[in-house]
Amino acid sequence: MSNILIRGVTVLTMESHDSVISDGIIAIAGDRIAAVGLHNAIPAGFVAGREIDGAGMVALPGLVNCHTHAAMTLLRSYADDLPLMKWLNEKIWPLEAKMQSEDFYWGTMLCCLEMIKSGTTTFADMYFEMNQVARAVEESGMRACLSRGMVGVGPGAGKAVDENIRLVEEWHGQAGGRITTMFGPHAPYTCPPEYLKKVIELAARYGVGIHIHVAETKDEVQQIQENYGTTPVRHLDAVGIFEVPTLAAHCVYLDKGDIEVLAEKKVGVAHCPESNMKLASGISPVEEMLKSGVMVGLGTDGASSNNNLDMMEESNNNLDMMEEMHCAALLQKVACGDPMAMPSFKTLQMATSGGARVLGLPDVGMLKTGMKADLILVDLRRPHLCPQHDIIAHLVYSAQSADVDTVIINGEIVMEGRRVLTIDEKKVMAEAQMCADRLVGK
Ligand SMILES: [Zn+2]
Repeated sequence: MSNILIRGVTVLTMESHDSVISDGIIAIAGDRIAAVGLHNAIPAGFVAGREIDGAGMVALPGLVNCHTHAAMTLLRSYADDLPLMKWLNEKIWPLEAKMQSEDFYWGTMLCCLEMIKSGTTTFADMYFEMNQVARAVEESGMRACLSRGMVGVGPGAGKAVDENIRLVEEWHGQAGGRITTMFGPHAPYTCPPEYLKKVIELAARYGVGIHIHVAETKDEVQQIQENYGTTPVRHLDAVGIFEVPTLAAHCVYLDKGDIEVLAEKKVGVAHCPESNMKLASGISPVEEMLKSGVMVGLGTDGASSNNNLDMMEESNNNLDMMEEMHCAALLQKVACGDPMAMPSFKTLQMATSGGARVLGLPDVGMLKTGMKADLILVDLRRPHLCPQHDIIAHLVYSAQSADVDTVIINGEIVMEGRRVLTIDEKKVMAEAQMCADRLVGK
């Protein structure tokens, strides 16, 4: 790993709204940022093995996708616009039953390729066959927080826990520290309290967090109310889950009390606006959460997600965080009836430093000395990004994933000039297509 020096670049450090450096430098030594600033910030004696000309580009922290089910990219566009139960029974479940280890591997590789090309450097995944997912993360050069999706009822409940334990034991801290792990109980309505308590105990014992879907749909809220006489958030609090670091995906239906609990217990929320829109789930009260001090990050959700029992979500999204930022900002403005709601800096914060906090990664999400060198260069020399009154607004409202030119993760150049260096792009697409063809019996 040689030192890297980026010159002549505009830098958004994401420390505050006005921390924008024009004609700046970023010095990278090993896996960390050695210096950020004007030309004279280059540390004495710093020798760069590689220099990158950042003219016309803006450097910002790599985007953090806080909630995905990566391998489901293989089922993307296989079945759209169908009623949920027909979609599950006739299309998805028969296909999922046929999925083999290699499908999970190639599905995740395809997902990593798509994420790198759209500026994402870190993602939080909840799925199955996590060994294959971890392998793909290791090879692609990405940073990821992995959990095994567990449903607490039915014959697979115990096996799922065993597999999650194995994931934590074998992969936590691996791939040069790029992989961290969590436990992944699917949701309060698919995991009974006794099962959750066992998972909480394990998470505490291993010193890792919990990744779970929370208050995603009206149906869920109703079901939890009927079974436990309270809201999903308060139910989970009573079970004790928030005593360990928790990543709560969705959080669409919350009352004031729920938001207080999330803030007080320092729960991280993964806001997934596009998935919530596509499934007509509802609109998460993100502005209120942020005002109350809740930590919020952004997530795309799966390209097409469910599981063998009752994962009542399917969204067929792509995994493009640029698009997710556009949606997050616009949707809150509509929901609040206020054009000043969810301004661009707040939105970009959710996609970078906010996401890193939510995933418990203290040295990711900002460009400053000592932080991990996870950053992207976005090419501003495009008609849709001209003129440049406000670069942050451009990134949130106008930039497209194809504008991402260079991606550096953990001090390694993963993409340069839009060419991904860690993944054979053609091979991954061909293999993914072959897996998909085999699954549908072509
Ligand atoms: Zn999900």
